Amino acid sequence: MANFETVEVKTDLLIVGGGFAACGVATEAAYWAKKNGLKVTLVDKAALDRSGAVAMGLSAINQYVGVKDGENTCEDYVRYVRQDLMGISREDLVYNIARHVDSTVHLFEKWGLKIWTDENGKYVHEGRWQLMINGESYKIIIAEAAKNAIADAGGEIYERVFIVEPLVDGNKCVGAVGFSTREEKIYVFKAKATAIAAGGAVHVFRPRSVGEGFGRSWYPPFNTGSSAYFTLKAGAEMTCQEVRFIPVRFKDAYGPVGAWFLLFKSRAVSAEGGEYMAVRKEELNNWAPYGLAKPIPANLRNYLGMLDMDAGLGPLYMETDEAIAKLADAYKDDPKAFKKKMKELEAEAWEDFLDMTISQAHLWAAQNVKPEEKHSEIAACEPYFIGSHSGASGAWVSGPEDMDTPYKWGYANMTTVEGLFAAGDASGASSHKFSSGSHAEGRIAGKAAIKYIVEKGAEPTIDAAKVDAIKAKILAPLDRYQEFCKLTTAPEINPNYLLWRQFMDRLQKIMDEYAGGVTAAFKTSKANLERAMELLAFLKEDSEKLAAADIYSLERCWENVQRMWQGEAHVRTMLFREETRWPGYYFRSDTPKMDEENWHCFANCRWDPASGEWEMTKKDVWNIPGV
Ligand SMILES: Cc1cc2nc3c(=O)[nH]c(=O)nc-3n(C[C@H](O)[C@H](O)[C@H](O)COP(=O)(O)OP(=O)(O)OC[C@H]3O[C@@H](n4cnc5c(N)ncnc54)[C@H](O)[C@@H]3O)c2cc1C
Repeated sequence: MANFETVEVKTDLLIVGGGFAACGVATEAAYWAKKNGLKVTLVDKAALDRSGAVAMGLSAINQYVGVKDGENTCEDYVRYVRQDLMGISREDLVYNIARHVDSTVHLFEKWGLKIWTDENGKYVHEGRWQLMINGESYKIIIAEAAKNAIADAGGEIYERVFIVEPLVDGNKCVGAVGFSTREEKIYVFKAKATAIAAGGAVHVFRPRSVGEGFGRSWYPPFNTGSSAYFTLKAGAEMTCQEVRFIPVRFKDAYGPVGAWFLLFKSRAVSAEGGEYMAVRKEELNNWAPYGLAKPIPANLRNYLGMLDMDAGLGPLYMETDEAIAKLADAYKDDPKAFKKKMKELEAEAWEDFLDMTISQAHLWAAQNVKPEEKHSEIAACEPYFIGSHSGASGAWVSGPEDMDTPYKWGYANMTTVEGLFAAGDASGASSHKFSSGSHAEGRIAGKAAIKYIVEKGAEPTIDAAKVDAIKAKILAPLDRYQEFCKLTTAPEINPNYLLWRQFMDRLQKIMDEYAGGVTAAFKTSKANLERAMELLAFLKEDSEKLAAADIYSLERCWENVQRMWQGEAHVRTMLFREETRWPGYYFRSDTPKMDEENWHCFANCRWDPASGEWEMTKKDVWNIPGV
């Protein structure tokens, strides 16, 4: 076996991940841990300052309810999420996040985040729930608060340690095992409770950006399904694994469109000039009641554009020139004021990308795009797993203790595995929490995890033989490479192993072609999904043959194994749900309609660590009474 040093870390609470949810867990848990003399340890595969989906910065906080100003109520937010997710959401979780999110945003401001205010000192909204920010350093500010909280409570932070496997003792999580992405070290974390917040997954499906563009995606390439893998392997029940997210964005560099739709009031049209939201309005009747209520769910908006694409009316365009012209029109009689306004609008258009998707600005510059002169192409991206945004995949977690919810088995945000908590992208069916809501949910989970440790946290029982087996399994690709790499002249072509890139390409091809990716125009069917399952079985077999020349490749191997598990959970759940509920995310052509009678429910799955079998179950949707 590769000769890695083993580092053992004992802690009370282990936080896996360093993104928005993990920073929320850390900030809150450290506070309660200090009061109770407990230790909090956070482990991130990257560096906390710039890790996760907010690494590059953001231009808006997407969830702010505004309760103090009487702008909205938490019930309004529950109705909004219910509507956007076509009726399928955990309203107890959504409500719980909504009632905590404003205080989280106020903390962000206190920590130094610049939230735009108007001349009356009121927050500037991008849309009903969104606040505009100077967000280039958003992640650094939130990470700093988490780091300070952990330091103040005497905890520890491990950066550049990639967590692979959970440590389990029966139905209890007792820590995690991972390896350094820089040094020959394997880490064994032993914990009384663990909070998983390792984000969602990208590159499970073949991206639009292949070849020279590979690496560009809407979702950050560093989140690879670790949350789903960790919870699945621990034996946790999962929910909404079929609910992937497909954003429509500026094509090829995935630049955001929110500011264009909400702030600039721009139209999206087909190449023939028809505004698909208007031209295809009638289609929305087929998806009542959600298609007929406002706001129109994201997937249905996608779907109307996809119908244009299917009809050969592409490309689709954002009418940037028209939108800018309209906004500047009010100044047309004053040439100086007009020029100034145009400059201001151009600056805002570019800044929107420079804040959070710099590569879109590069692409526009490279292609001589001037948004004030000519429209720009938009397209539906490949599917992503991001339960905190407009997707919903994640673990099935216990509801808030003080709410009369049917989904409750103990501590808030604890999965069905004892001592394992989940937040952000890692917890399911509570979409639209975004950066602020993920942090708020992290705080909820962090507080509950410390309460669990105080009330129930026994010393973890860890089977040393199991740990050794996990270590050997994690390092096996390095050993395999060393054993066989000299048998061929080109090390990447070898009958005894496959490399991560070959493995990933195969996974992406399966998912793309059979599970409703870009190539399949987001359509799938029972026959296609069954074929995907056959091919995934071979891929799983071959995952035992992965080989890695160095630590870098070892990380890539495990990232792709984790992606494969996310892919499998997705395919199984799409197969289970015999209807089409989210056209625009995926369309099951053999069951093309929504079936409220039989499928107005959660589709849950669980992989049983003892038998290795998958179980699929339906769970009722509960609506908060009177909401
Ligand atoms: C392109 C894009 C634009 C967005 N725009 C907005 C916006 O404008 N406004 C807004 O409010 N929200 C926005 N969001 C949503 C917001 O970014 C997410 O909701 C939020 O980051 C989710 O928090 P998280 O902690 O679950 O995941 P992340 O913040 O992504 O954090 C995941 C963490 O897990 C770590 N990790 C991953 N795997 C492992 C592993 N195996 N071991 C250890 N650590 C691991 C990562 O390094 C990272 O630290 C956007 C998201 C995307 C992708």
